[in-house]
Amino acid sequence: MLRDSAVLRLCVLIVETYWRNNSPVVCAMKNSCLRYGCIKCCLNTKMPLRTSDIEEIRGLGFTEDFFVTRRDGELRLRNLNGRCVFHNGERCTIYNDRPEGCRLYPAVFDEDKGRVVLHAYCPHRKKFQLTPTILCEVVKLVRKLDAERKRRL
Ligand code: SF4
Repeated sequence: MLRDSAVLRLCVLIVETYWRNNSPVVCAMKNSCLRYGCIKCCLNTKMPLRTSDIEEIRGLGFTEDFFVTRRDGELRLRNLNGRCVFHNGERCTIYNDRPEGCRLYPAVFDEDKGRVVLHAYCPHRKKFQLTPTILCEVVKLVRKLDAERKRRL
């Protein structure tokens, strides 16, 4: 039988997973991309990956060499035929398990401005919102990626 603490952890995990995939902001993102039939950010992607992104995708049965490229301590999504290796031309085939950077995009950290912005590369960025939660998550992600890159050098 599960102990109380295990049940609590399970509940938190369920709520976090639900929130990750169904928060108003994430839904707005999904809707905008789908409504406009846009896959632009999946083309020739340079999306950086956290170690935990890689572990999650490996858990789906993919080998690291299949989807990761390495350069100067950075790990990024690999492209195949000009698009992310997981995009089949119509949709992302690992959408529910996509990397954190994909989930947050078009919110990115602009080094020159020193703040989080909606990336100018996204043609529908005005349909997205930068909420306090998204701002925090992007900053957290950038710090994590930076720390992991430094450890690999
Ligand atoms: S470029 Fe913008 S609208 Fe197009 S798929 Fe990416 S996030 Fe969605």
